[in-house]
Amino acid sequence: MANALIKLIEDEDIEYVDIRFTDPRGKLQHVTVVADLVDEDFIEEGFMFDGSSIAGWKSIEASDMKLMLDVDSAYIDPFYAEKTVCVHCSVVEPDTNEPYDRDPRGTAEKAEAYLISSGIGDKFFCGPEAEFFLFDDVRFSNSMNKVGFEVDAADAAWNTGTEYEMGNMGHRPGVKGGYFPVNPTDAAQDLRSEMLSTMKRIGMKVDKHHHEVASCQHELGLIFGTLTKQADELQKYKYVIHNVAHAYGKSATFMPKPIAGDNGTGMHVNMSIWKDGKPLFAGDQYADLSNEALYFIGGILKHAKALNAFTNPSTNSYKRLIPGFEAPVLRAYSARNRSGCVRIPWTESPKAKRVEARFPDPSANPYLCFAALMMAGLDGIKNKIHPGEPSDKDLYDLPPEELATIPTVCGSLREALDELEKDHDFLLAGDVFTKDQIEGYAAIKWEEVYAYEHTPHPIEYQMYYSC
Ligand code: GLU
Ligand code: MG
Ligand code: MG
Repeated sequence: MANALIKLIEDEDIEYVDIRFTDPRGKLQHVTVVADLVDEDFIEEGFMFDGSSIAGWKSIEASDMKLMLDVDSAYIDPFYAEKTVCVHCSVVEPDTNEPYDRDPRGTAEKAEAYLISSGIGDKFFCGPEAEFFLFDDVRFSNSMNKVGFEVDAADAAWNTGTEYEMGNMGHRPGVKGGYFPVNPTDAAQDLRSEMLSTMKRIGMKVDKHHHEVASCQHELGLIFGTLTKQADELQKYKYVIHNVAHAYGKSATFMPKPIAGDNGTGMHVNMSIWKDGKPLFAGDQYADLSNEALYFIGGILKHAKALNAFTNPSTNSYKRLIPGFEAPVLRAYSARNRSGCVRIPWTESPKAKRVEARFPDPSANPYLCFAALMMAGLDGIKNKIHPGEPSDKDLYDLPPEELATIPTVCGSLREALDELEKDHDFLLAGDVFTKDQIEGYAAIKWEEVYAYEHTPHPIEYQMYYSC
C-alpha cells in the first residue's frame, strides 16, 4: 500500500528515499530523492530517469524511462549515515505505462502472471543458495598474489603454491581448514554473523551461515520466497554482504571461479510450484515427486544449454562448470548424487518437496535467472517432457564410454549465447521474455565474450612468453 511507505517515512523521520532497480547484467542501481517529495502522487506517477546510460537499455534518442516504486519492498537502509528508505522498482514506458520489455524485474513479474494464466499453478517458490568469497580489500592491503588479485598472503601462498614471506606459520591454523571447523580455522564467524543480523534487521528471512568448502568461501541461508520478491531478496543479500565485508576491510565477490584448483561459487536454486495452497511437486513417482515435477525437470534439462546464458552469464562461469569441484557438468538428475544438474533434496514433507538446479551461479541476474528456469520447467510440464531415468551413481565414476553418452551443459559463454539464439521460444510464451529483450541481452553478453577472447590471459604469459 502506498500509504504504508508514506507512514514509514513519517513515523521513522526518513530523510531520503533510495529508488533501486536492476540492470540487465544484474547490477543493483540507485537514485536518491528527498523524502519530502515522496507523496501519493509521486508513487502513482513514478520517477522519470534517463535510461540511456544503462548498458543494454535505450539509446540516447529515446532515453526517457519511468521507475514505478513497489512500496511493499521498502526497507530502511542499514548502511547510510542519513536515514534512508530503499524501494525496489520496475521500469515502465513513460507514455503508455506498459512494462519496459528489457527490465529484468518486469520480466519476473510477467513470469508470475504467466504461471497463473497457464492454469498450472499460482505460486513459484525459489530458494537460491548464493555462495561467495571474502578477500582482503585492495584499498586496505598491499598483498598482491601472483595471479593478480588481492588475497590474504596466506591464501595467496596456498592458492598459488608460491613461496611467500610470512614468518613463522608453525603455530597457525591452515587457511583451507575444510568445510565446518570452528574458529580460529574459520576466521569469518563474526563477519558472517553481522551479515546475517543486518539482513534480519532489514526484515529479510534468513536461517543460517557457514564456511564453505574452498578457502575464504562462505554461504548464508535465505528462506525461500516467490519469484520477484525472492530476486529482490537476492539483490539485498548481495548488497548486505558487499557492504558488511567492506566495513571490515574485506571485499566480497560472487564471481563463479575466483581461484583455480579450488571449489567455485554456485547459486543452487531450489524450486517448487504451488496451486490453491497445495504443493504440486509432491507425488508417488521417483523420489516422491509428482509427474509435474518430473516434467519440470525434463524442461530444465532439455533447455539447460540455452538457460546457461541466463543462469551462468559470465565468461568466468565456465571455469566453475568442470568436473571435480562439486559443480555439475552433466545434464542428469538424481535424488542422491550431486554431480548432475538437478538434484532432489531429501525431505519427508510434501510441502518441502522441491527440485534443485545446481548449475546456476550468482553472476546471474536473479530476476532473469529465476524467470528463465521457471519458463523452462513450465515448458516441460506443458509438453510432458520426461527427463528419462535418474542417474543415481556418481556420474564421474562411470566408464568413459558411458559418461560420453550423457549430455552436458555449455562449455563457454560463447556456446551459451549460440544455444540461446537457437532455443528461446520457451521464454517467449505469454510474452514473458521478448525477442527484442533477448537480442539486447545477448548483445551486451557478446561484448563480454569478445573482451575476454581478445585479451591476453596471465596464464598465456606463463605458457607462451618464452616460446
Ligand atoms: N561450491 C559448489 C558449486 O560450485 C557447491 C557446493 C555445495 O554443494 O554447497 O556449486
Ligand atoms: Mg553451498
Ligand atoms: Mg544446495
